[in-house]
Amino acid sequence: MADTLADRWHSIQRDVEVACLDVGRSPAEVTTIVVTKFHPAELVRELYELGVRNVGENRHQEASAKSAELSDLDVTWHFVGQLQSNKARAVAAYCDVIHSVDRTSLVDALAKYEGNVDVFLEVNLTDVPGRGGVEPEDLVKLAEHVLAAGNLRLRGIMAVAPQDEEPARAFERVVSYQAGVQAIAPAATDLSLGMSGDFREAIAAGATHLRIGTAITGKRPPAT
Ligand SMILES: *Cc1c(COP(=O)(O)O)cnc(C)c1O
Repeated sequence: MADTLADRWHSIQRDVEVACLDVGRSPAEVTTIVVTKFHPAELVRELYELGVRNVGENRHQEASAKSAELSDLDVTWHFVGQLQSNKARAVAAYCDVIHSVDRTSLVDALAKYEGNVDVFLEVNLTDVPGRGGVEPEDLVKLAEHVLAAGNLRLRGIMAVAPQDEEPARAFERVVSYQAGVQAIAPAATDLSLGMSGDFREAIAAGATHLRIGTAITGKRPPAT
């Protein structure tokens, strides 16, 4: 068992590479985002020194403080958590990519941001509405809304595999939703899928962005 941050990062990089090669994909197509939520800014700095350039956070207050403290680092910040509309503009100001766009009111709020933002549409794969994520049948309508906003660059679809379904099957469903979105947004080719426990399945399904936390950072400190 790898036990330092460097060991874990290198080990996951190797695992990602092997998983890509196993399914005939180039590792260069896959971006590993290290999810550092609950961890101090210092950990992000250590990761940066190891070569990490993509960092994920899920809470505005924490992410905002960390990105400010680390403004000297050339890091791409990814917001992966549920996002309240009244915080959308603030998040857009320091995050480069928002993975959790799941409703039109949030799109409207982001449209008021004076710059451009990359976004993923989060689709809900559970049977529980309101779990985070747009319902699959509303995905294309939401994509249309994003395109109409003008300042949002639609990258693709994001999802979290439900706990009670095989990740491979859940990710297949996400892939099946891609055609509908790409019919109106041909550039929306990215897939943000896969966490510590299911990144291999995500790579097999075609993920371009992995969101990996604990397998790299170790156990998260308790929420504050
Ligand atoms: C925390 C989180 C992750 C990372 O989860 P791990 O199981 O620690 O790898 C990925 N995606 C989202 C949306 C998260 O909130």
